[in-house]
Amino acid sequence: MKNWLSHGNRKYRKKYGRKLLTFGLPAYKSKDGFVTCPGAKECIKGCYARQGFYLWSPVTKAQEARLKLTRRHDFMEIITAEIQRRKPKYVRIHDAGDFYSVRYLNYWIGIALQNPEVFFFTYTKMIPLVRIAGFIPPNFRIVFSEGGVWDNMITEHDQTARVFKSIKDLNAAGFVNASHEDMKPIRAGVRKLGLVYHGISSRVFNTGGCHAEKESTAGVRLPNRVRKTRGVKGSEDGRRPTAVPVPSV
Ligand code: SF4
Repeated sequence: MKNWLSHGNRKYRKKYGRKLLTFGLPAYKSKDGFVTCPGAKECIKGCYARQGFYLWSPVTKAQEARLKLTRRHDFMEIITAEIQRRKPKYVRIHDAGDFYSVRYLNYWIGIALQNPEVFFFTYTKMIPLVRIAGFIPPNFRIVFSEGGVWDNMITEHDQTARVFKSIKDLNAAGFVNASHEDMKPIRAGVRKLGLVYHGISSRVFNTGGCHAEKESTAGVRLPNRVRKTRGVKGSEDGRRPTAVPVPSV
């Protein structure tokens, strides 16, 4: 039976093992040009999910396959069945990608409703969709991520994530550092979540926040020969990746 959910990056695997599963789509747009992050703006250039291991073909193929799955009428049933079979405690939606339509957001709301014992969490720049959705189940936490098209719709009452250049800037702005552990503060309802950016280069950094997970291999282990030919240094989860060019958008 095919698994669509993966264990995500090293940060999550180390802390939560099999208790936490992730689900990701192509970041910003798919190979055929379908826009998966309609709310993206400044974040596109610095997006972790458009760098490094995310560009490796098994990862992009898996993302494209998941995007196709989300367009199927039985997406909700398939993911619910997998959750009930694998029994995670937490599901991190979108280590890459975003809610690209109302219907797709509603699928995840339905999945959360059918799995009340599982905690679902995610970041989004699609603020209008969440406002339209109205009811979000208590076991489904959606954090608004700054740096998108609809930042002006975020209020002080919303759980919000902002990306900073340094921990010093993060502290000075009064945000809680969620760079190494985001699930617990999100679950606790912390309103101001700060993430320190460690992307390719400070040249592409701006305050437009990347909420994608850094260097998730989407559950795919890179063989040594591939790591060598790609000039990748460090572990397969990309703790010390060699920078590759950001694709143009
Ligand atoms: S940071 Fe998020 S919204 Fe922006 S391009 Fe990456 S995945 Fe999409």
